[in-house]
Amino acid sequence: MSAPLYFRSDSSLEHETGPHPEGPGRIPAIEREMEAHDWLGFERRDAPRVDPEVLGAVHPDAYVDSVRAMSERGGGAFDPDTIASTGTYEAALHAAGGACALVDALLGGEAPTGFCGLRPPGHHAEHARAMGFCFFNNIAVAVQHAIDAHGLERVFILDWDVHHGNGTNDIFYERRDVLFASIHQWPLYPGTGQLCDVGVGGGDGFSLNLAVPGGSGDGTWLPLVEHLAVPAARAFEPQLVLVSAGFDAHRDDPLATCRLTEESFAAMARWVVALAGELGVPFGAVLEGGYDLGALARSVRATLEVFGSGDADVASVEPDAVTQQAQSHFSRWWPVAA
Ligand SMILES: [Zn+2]
Repeated sequence: MSAPLYFRSDSSLEHETGPHPEGPGRIPAIEREMEAHDWLGFERRDAPRVDPEVLGAVHPDAYVDSVRAMSERGGGAFDPDTIASTGTYEAALHAAGGACALVDALLGGEAPTGFCGLRPPGHHAEHARAMGFCFFNNIAVAVQHAIDAHGLERVFILDWDVHHGNGTNDIFYERRDVLFASIHQWPLYPGTGQLCDVGVGGGDGFSLNLAVPGGSGDGTWLPLVEHLAVPAARAFEPQLVLVSAGFDAHRDDPLATCRLTEESFAAMARWVVALAGELGVPFGAVLEGGYDLGALARSVRATLEVFGSGDADVASVEPDAVTQQAQSHFSRWWPVAA
């Protein structure tokens, strides 16, 4: 099998947000770190623009037009957190397009894994609403594309950004072809994603919202991955595993108070590799948050070292009280009980 893939785009640098944590400097910080490590053997590719029809499968045309119009006007604020500039629309097209290109490459057997180092991020964006630094929901567009264009019947999304992936959760909330697991600090922006939010209708039980208290570190995050997300995903038997990879649960991050380190992200990545290996399916990740530039860069590198090497050497940890509560809650739907 050929090299793992790293999707990037110069357009990511043209999405200007002013004095805002989600700024263009995040991208060169990551790329300098990767460059210093010979890109860990990843093959760099330019992220293409998303196909309008593919984007339209998640976001209504009128909403897409509103993002384009805002950029054409020279920018503005969708909300106090979500700032657009002249380059935002183009950057957002490439961020969604890169995620779709990653899916095409993975499902076409071109590479075992890959990463999208693109911005703006996506997981807060709903069908027709920009919010939380996000315009198009890159991972949701890519997953819908995997279903529509490649005929996939089951996709697993693990969202380890410190914020609830409300947009992704909302888009697939009534669906049973997408299992969504989000580990996030609560209370924290955007305020959604409590344990009881399990999905509705046909999607009942297919939203695993794993809220953790501020200050949580490895002792809470890692058992939630091992004893909740992974066993549920194993039972779901996805044909593709994608990570909404935010790195703002790092202890150095300014926007939240969780206590993860680079090694924590590597440990979670090993579970992703192990799960995908066991199922014999491809896996990849798209960048979401992460606002301390040093922590962000090192955490991306730690994750991609694991992804690129196929390191599935997981370490088992005991479930803590938060994990036990989640196990008891979700054992009705999934084989996650102790
Ligand atoms: Zn975040």
